[in-house]
Amino acid sequence: MSDAGVYSYSAVLMGSPILLKLFDDNPVLARQVFSLIKQQENRFTVNRAESEVMAINHAAGRHPVVVSEAVFQLISVAHTVSTLPDSAFNFAIGPVVKRWKIGFQGRSVPPAAEINALLRLTDPHQVILDAAQRSVFLAQPGMEIDLGAIAKGYIADVVQAFLRQQGVSRALINLGGNVQTLGTPPHEPGGWSIGLKTPFGGDEALLGVLQVAEKSVVTSGIYERYFEQDGRCWHHIFDPRSGYPLDNELLSVTVIADRSLDGDIYTTLLYGMGVEQGLAFLADQPALDAIFVTRDRQIVCPPSHHYRFQLHDASWTLHH
Ligand code: FAD
Ligand code: MG
Repeated sequence: MSDAGVYSYSAVLMGSPILLKLFDDNPVLARQVFSLIKQQENRFTVNRAESEVMAINHAAGRHPVVVSEAVFQLISVAHTVSTLPDSAFNFAIGPVVKRWKIGFQGRSVPPAAEINALLRLTDPHQVILDAAQRSVFLAQPGMEIDLGAIAKGYIADVVQAFLRQQGVSRALINLGGNVQTLGTPPHEPGGWSIGLKTPFGGDEALLGVLQVAEKSVVTSGIYERYFEQDGRCWHHIFDPRSGYPLDNELLSVTVIADRSLDGDIYTTLLYGMGVEQGLAFLADQPALDAIFVTRDRQIVCPPSHHYRFQLHDASWTLHH
């Protein structure tokens, strides 16, 4: 489909709508991008019986599993981030994620005793990495790795590198909330306009528009995958300490960074920190930018942000 020289290609992969924007009509390249994503999905998915990650999970408590360089690298990053002091990120959260089934059939609030029992199987220090063998071993039976919080970011960066290698200078890929870009659109030197959805506002409602160039924009929010029970919203970002959805003032965090993988890591970490601690953290991170969206309809930008954000919904308050 063409709109003023923009060619958009879409697919559904990883349970997410995928959009590729190019400035030449190149369906062959689009097919190559989608098959590259599919190939990566086959490595990292935990939503099917077989993948490299599932091979590790199936061997929990029994033996180490040798994996590809790419899977080992991403697991090493996830291990490092998960073992930071007070980290809200934990890639060994798999048993909790599987039990809650948020975004899938049969979801309900599990009994507290079950959550507590499962939490004992989520210690990231019990994921044993051997760089020389390129192997991963889950020390307890029942442990499960889940890379759902970062695999899309990693894959967005893989797609960006592939497009660059194919000589593409302007493009955008959106992997259901992970946007990665190359160059700027023609005649728009200010960069790409990326809409942020109004939380719980439906598919079309736009909170505002962000303008960026050569950056990734990643949003992690509680309004895409959740269910309601007992008057509460139970969403898919878990507090690794409690095994319950993270409960603070936030509805979403958006991170603007060079790499989409970093965006994916920091959306989860900042989500766990909340606005005040998050802003203090960002003050020492010149390469990272963020936007916090809170339950009391505030949009908070760090004092020294580098992006342009235009508010579209006047019933929210912008602080910047
Ligand atoms: P993010 O906030 O980036 O991540 C949330 C996800 O991270 C949770 O869904 C959970 O998996 C995990 N998580 C929760 N809490 C934590 C924590 N504290 N620390 C670390 N991780 C945490 N969806 C489908 O419906 N069907 C599919 O077949 C399917 N296949 C997929 C295959 C792959 C390879 C990937 C990467 C995703 C797939 N998904 C699928 C989507 C997946 O279930 C998640 O919705 C998605 O990855 C979460 O991304 P996000 O940007 O929405 O949220
Ligand atoms: Mg993420």
